[in-house]
Amino acid sequence: MGNRKPLISGNWKMFKTCSEATEAASQLAKLVGGVSDREVMIAPTYTSLALVSAAVKDSIVSVGAQNLFWEDEGAYTGEISADMVTSAGCEYVIIGHSERRQYFNETDENVNKRIKAAIKGNLKPVLCIGETWEEREAEKTFSVLDKQVKKGLEEFSLSDLGSLVIAYEPVWAIGTGKTATTDQAQDVHKFLRSLIKEMYGEELAESMRILYGGSVKPANIAELMSMPDIDGALVGGASLDPETFSQIVKY
Ligand code: PEP
Repeated sequence: MGNRKPLISGNWKMFKTCSEATEAASQLAKLVGGVSDREVMIAPTYTSLALVSAAVKDSIVSVGAQNLFWEDEGAYTGEISADMVTSAGCEYVIIGHSERRQYFNETDENVNKRIKAAIKGNLKPVLCIGETWEEREAEKTFSVLDKQVKKGLEEFSLSDLGSLVIAYEPVWAIGTGKTATTDQAQDVHKFLRSLIKEMYGEELAESMRILYGGSVKPANIAELMSMPDIDGALVGGASLDPETFSQIVKY
């Protein structure tokens, strides 16, 4: 897998109060203490970002936000800007998670604006893409992903995208206990790398990390990570328990 450093990331979704998040983050930081050859990231809710950042400060764990709004500031009640999440200690931001697309009307067009704002604010965006079960059944997986990538990255130049991470998360595998087979995942990751190569050239394609997400567990991470184009994971449910998540980190 070239010299791409694996990234194991946890999406805590709408779970954990401030004290629960701080406690879990401190435990995780201890549990992954000896790890150095991979990156670890957790994405708690907005309200816990600063506390979690403080809790993992001297560890290898970095922090991500689960979303951001594209304006710098203004009368946008309930929204949060790139600078705000950065000031709370974030290095990463998850953009376009399928739950955001499904329940909060996020589209490829506004995902594109969010990625622009993230890059402008020096955050590393984790662009989430994935097909539904119906789309897979109709053999539209590659065309759906092609559109999500091309629209999501519209008007970006090569120099903008050095820190971009893509997370392939088949919608049908998120929180369902159904995992894509390692071969299904590898096929898609290979397709995505060749798409990035076609759009931006070999150097970026070879250095970009493409994560898999969808019911990743301690029992399936090693096999997924043995695939040449799988460079890490975005983990939902199994990231909530520090002990379980640390086992995934140490696959
Ligand atoms: C996710 O939320 O990104 C995810 C992959 O969830 P889960 O691991 O629970 O399927």
